[in-house]
Amino acid sequence: MERNLELKEKYSKQQMDQLIADLNRYSYEYYVLDSPTVTDSEYDQLYRLLQTIEKEHPQWIRPDSPTQRVGDTLLSGFAKVQHEKPMLSLENAFNEEELMEFDRRIRSLTSRPIQYHVELKIDGLAVSLKYEEGQFVQAATRGDGTIGEDITANVKTIQAIPLRLQKPQSIEVRGEIYMPKASFKLLNEMQEEKGQNIFANPRNAAAGTLRNLDPKVTAARKLNVFLYASPTLDEQDFSQYELLSELKKLGFRINPERAVYDTMAEVLKYIEKYTAKRHELPYEIDGIVIKVNDSKAQEEIGYTVKAPRWAIAYKFPAEVAKTRIVQVEWTVGRTGVVTPTAVMEPVFLAGSTVARASLHNVDLMKARDIRIGDYVYIHKAGDIIPEVIRVDLEDRSIHSRPYTFPVACPVCGSELVHMEDEVALRCVNPNCPAQLRERMIHFASRDAMNIDTLGESRVNQLYKANLVKGITDLYHLKQHDLMTLDRMGEKSSEKLLEAIEASKHNSLERLLFGLGIRHVGASTAKLLAAEFKTMDRIAAATVEDIMTIEGIGAIIAESIVAFFQMQETKQLLHELKQVHVNMTMIDRFSDLHEHQADSPFHELTVVLTGKLEHFTRKELKARLEALGAKVTGSVSSQTDLVIAGAKAGNKLDKAQELGVEIWNEEQALQHLPKE
Ligand code: NAD
Repeated sequence: MERNLELKEKYSKQQMDQLIADLNRYSYEYYVLDSPTVTDSEYDQLYRLLQTIEKEHPQWIRPDSPTQRVGDTLLSGFAKVQHEKPMLSLENAFNEEELMEFDRRIRSLTSRPIQYHVELKIDGLAVSLKYEEGQFVQAATRGDGTIGEDITANVKTIQAIPLRLQKPQSIEVRGEIYMPKASFKLLNEMQEEKGQNIFANPRNAAAGTLRNLDPKVTAARKLNVFLYASPTLDEQDFSQYELLSELKKLGFRINPERAVYDTMAEVLKYIEKYTAKRHELPYEIDGIVIKVNDSKAQEEIGYTVKAPRWAIAYKFPAEVAKTRIVQVEWTVGRTGVVTPTAVMEPVFLAGSTVARASLHNVDLMKARDIRIGDYVYIHKAGDIIPEVIRVDLEDRSIHSRPYTFPVACPVCGSELVHMEDEVALRCVNPNCPAQLRERMIHFASRDAMNIDTLGESRVNQLYKANLVKGITDLYHLKQHDLMTLDRMGEKSSEKLLEAIEASKHNSLERLLFGLGIRHVGASTAKLLAAEFKTMDRIAAATVEDIMTIEGIGAIIAESIVAFFQMQETKQLLHELKQVHVNMTMIDRFSDLHEHQADSPFHELTVVLTGKLEHFTRKELKARLEALGAKVTGSVSSQTDLVIAGAKAGNKLDKAQELGVEIWNEEQALQHLPKE
């Protein structure tokens, strides 16, 4: 973990001013635009350089220097919130030597015995949550440290944040809101599919999501939270360890990977362990935070204008690898967006071998002037998505030529279009075989028409053999045709035909989702089906009609209306009707709905955990919801009941800890209406 940033030459005041201007511009791009143009470690190196110059020339320090203030700039569009106690940043350490120096400094500032509380440094953004008499009342960003932005409406959509505490306590808690790696990956895939800009990392994606003025967008993007501080509890002399345990008791989500050590040597071992383990975590961490555990010692050691003196953030070294681009491949998605992928010489990076990296879109490729044969630096955005950061221009061959972008669709040959409000190239031919194929894969997928055994490779096979062109062709497939295909015998062809036949009887929401209407995911499809009941009524609905549904805004409504006005849609629906694909909502649980009012599950918040015997969890969830229960994924003070099957783990522990009522599967079955 050795990294030293040496100041090799003397710097002039003019150079320092330039450094401040650059750092402030990067901060603006990072905090306000949520779209950084340099990596965090590049920023950190420049920042460190500025600190060193300022140390040598204290008379040059300017009030607008990033070392003198907490970074974020306030955005308009949100009410302002004054923090009762400032929300500070953390000093950084980049190597063992700097941590040992921190240890010496701490021990010189107090005579009390020192223990260190170590925590993961979650790469998200700081939030303050306020509760009055146990009731959640306000959430705010850190802002400039003194004044933050009111993000209450958006924060309410985060399931893990309790809206009511176990005790009627008035308290402020602080922590980190983050986007899990999986949600980040999904979000960027969707942005790419829509031809929109992608997010650089989960932190920027979380910030952009929280500052979105539409809470529905926030709800859809699945943020989460870990709490790690409370100015209210600070007044009660809790050590950091006790404080987190207390927060846990109140129902807050605490990161479990914490520890207390007596020596910096043990802290270094912990750092080593998590440097290796970080890639396995479901969320991104950018370092380890080391805090003095004892509150009296913290008080004695004190604060700078920007950060507590009793804590430090060890930042992981940047994980970057250099490799060469050998080819650029273009693939056509379901909506016609054409995406470039760099095929590279394989290289080991952040826990795995990488040979392909998304180049995202034509605008980004142009901005980075990426060419075939270039040596490039790559990293993993959000710890998972391999991405080209920049070209090593010094290593560029003198024979190199700018990349020639395709003008025609690589699959159907029709002209590619660069829409005005998009960053991507698009194939706008609705009959492009690549799009049709992608649409068919989506149509058959599990949450859509759920056609068993019709996955990506089988769809490709059908296309190659010219057995299908569009979705309706699926319903005209004959067994003798299927049996001409590789790996397709009598049994498997029968099975596929049965699955296709069964899909005709799906309820409306599956078909709606399967049609791949822009902005209509599985949950919007459910809302539409529940409201309109038939496809014809949805097709005839106006934007205003659709917007009366809670949870559907103007953009989605407009997209739905536009979809049903298209000639191709009318034709497809006509064809699907002719082969008797069901177009109405089928309420599997109409009998359960009748029992709703007198069911013990009515209006309860329920969590299912462990392995169930009689139902899958998904099935039991659907039944409980039909009886009027709200089924959520995590146990909190809001939970009324936990139904625990075999081998239940953390959720059961937490329910016991919070005193939530627990039933086994048998007890739950006894309270379900008999079939
Ligand atoms: P920071 O991210 O270095 O550290 C402080 C923050 O860590 C706290 O405010 C808190 O939000 C967070 N944190 C996470 N886990 C924590 C825990 N367990 N305990 C306490 N705090 C925890 O500091 P910052 O002021 O938020 O941001 C500065 C950093 O942002 C820079 O070091 C740089 O990496 C990045 N940045 C990047 C750019 C860019 O252009 N790439 C620009 C500006 C800032």
